[in-house]
Amino acid sequence: MKNILLLLLALLTLACTSSVNSQPETEKPTNIIFLIGDGMGLSAVSTGFYFGDQPSVFKRFNEIGLQQTSSAIQKVTDSAASGTALATGTRTYNGAIGVDTTKASVQNIAELVASMGWSTGVVATSTISHATPASFYAHVVQRSMEEEIASQLLTSEIDFFAGGGRDKFNARRDSVDILPLAAENGFIIDTTGLPGPGTLSADQKYGFLPEGGSMPPMREGRGDFLPEATSLAISHLSHNQEGFFLIVEGSQIDWAGHANDAEYLIGEMLDFEKTIAAALDFAEKDGNTLVVVTADHETGGLALGPKKPAPGESGYANYAEIELIFASGNHSATLIPVFAFGPGAEKFKGIYQNSEINHKMVALVKGE
Ligand code: MG
Ligand code: ZN
Repeated sequence: MKNILLLLLALLTLACTSSVNSQPETEKPTNIIFLIGDGMGLSAVSTGFYFGDQPSVFKRFNEIGLQQTSSAIQKVTDSAASGTALATGTRTYNGAIGVDTTKASVQNIAELVASMGWSTGVVATSTISHATPASFYAHVVQRSMEEEIASQLLTSEIDFFAGGGRDKFNARRDSVDILPLAAENGFIIDTTGLPGPGTLSADQKYGFLPEGGSMPPMREGRGDFLPEATSLAISHLSHNQEGFFLIVEGSQIDWAGHANDAEYLIGEMLDFEKTIAAALDFAEKDGNTLVVVTADHETGGLALGPKKPAPGESGYANYAEIELIFASGNHSATLIPVFAFGPGAEKFKGIYQNSEINHKMVALVKGE
């Protein structure tokens, strides 16, 4: 009887030990979808709670952190320095794209995962050569070099892109049409719009440039470009069993903040929420996809206050109604929320510098 008990105890110990050993320390994502709302501070995130007609998509996240956005030089960052910090893990000066403070190129996460066999994609509602998307494929000393950035996109590791900015390719100040360079580098370019689902061939690279300049704002008829381009990118890139990295930017939240334009901002936020939902829907089904949502910085010093009396009217502010109030037309240095879902999402809890978001993603990709 005693021997049997000892045997049982030994087996139990063995079972416990082996179950502990088989538990991986951190789950490793096969895919990463990184969504950046340019200029999206906590008040912008909050707009969906008051102006949306369905529950805020942000309620679908349980792992939440805060990031500080200051550049290597300036306390208030621009989108180039913060985009570069997020893309490369290196903090730099305002205006820099994919280069450090000595103007030396630094590897971005899209280049890293491409070297591991992953597919990569970039989607934005600005020109595709604008600072935020550019940080994930280009290396230039100033963000204003958009024609050079567009040229670098075509020779980069990117497999799929969609956004505005066709003029940076075929109606340039230098009069060079670089779209033939796209074909030389294996891209099929569509300058008219997005195709229906299931029309892309798996082994092909694609670029979609339906607008000469930036994509129109939501209230001027952009429609579902951002969620549809994101879903198209996901279905195309997910053919690669090795994995994919997709960066999606809600570019114009920032422009609405600069313009202190409440209606513009709410329209852009609801569109970005719909896009996040498309990414989460895929990630929930897939099980191996990490979704990270954050901003590069806050814009406009936005607050959600009670509705003020109309000009000429007296009385108190109406606490029953919300009004968007802007403190400035610039970026601000407020901390920015970070939302994560999927394998490794718990790594994004805490308060850290923006470049740490890149370090966390890179560590997960490498299985560290
Ligand atoms: Mg941007
Ligand atoms: Zn801005």
